[in-house]
Amino acid sequence: MKTNKAFLFNEEEEAERILKEGFDIEGIDYGKMYIIAKYFREKYNYGEIRLERKIIDFCQSVDSNFNPITQAEYIQKWVKSAMKYDLRKINSIYITKKDVEFLREIENEKHRKILFAMLVLAKAMKISGTKRGKEDYKTSDNYYIRYNNLSDVTRISRISNVSEMALALILHEYKQYFTFYSPYKELIRVDFVDTSGDDDIEIDNLEDISEMYEKLFGKDICVVCGKEFERKSNRQKYCEDCSKKIKSEQTIKIINEKRRKAKSK
Ligand SMILES: [Zn+2]
Repeated sequence: MKTNKAFLFNEEEEAERILKEGFDIEGIDYGKMYIIAKYFREKYNYGEIRLERKIIDFCQSVDSNFNPITQAEYIQKWVKSAMKYDLRKINSIYITKKDVEFLREIENEKHRKILFAMLVLAKAMKISGTKRGKEDYKTSDNYYIRYNNLSDVTRISRISNVSEMALALILHEYKQYFTFYSPYKELIRVDFVDTSGDDDIEIDNLEDISEMYEKLFGKDICVVCGKEFERKSNRQKYCEDCSKKIKSEQTIKIINEKRRKAKSK
């Protein structure tokens, strides 16, 4: 029985997809049933008893051998959590220019991708306080991710061949930017997040942030010589050599202009 609890940015979309196309695995995905239960409760505004009936009907429609008596413990868990939590519905998060500048300083490409994913997840966790009626998680000034989100970091950043152990070791190299709580507390505080509030860069494809990564940090082609270069700012159009040349040409122009004006006085 698979209980895969990946962090999903938009659980509503996922629930609708499952109801249309079925689970990705044969039979019932017990991990995803939490989302289905929340979806039924929200969509039909069910109380506990009707929700339980709906869940049993649904499970039996997926697996005709589903036995509500032997599985009663699971059903109760799904119902309880659905009564307590709302569906997470995050379509986009915002980061700041300072966040981007900070990440540009990370020279190792793979490490930068990991830290970028940590930032995106921490931002999403912040706005995902899904406990019904409780807002306190959102009002804290700090940003956190959970230890069990580490597999989500590799998933959304699309880096391959990084085990959870390897990832933990990489994070340790950047320990000045994090606060690691004991595994018992389950939290990692992400301390490099810019909290100035100038959130003006939108990231909307949250399940795959590699495209946005390329946009923000990827290589560009110089408009003058056609060489590839790594952008250091969003406005940069030339490679370093060309921008040096252009700058010195502009300087000469300005000097000549000044001389010309001085002469004509
Ligand atoms: Zn160039």
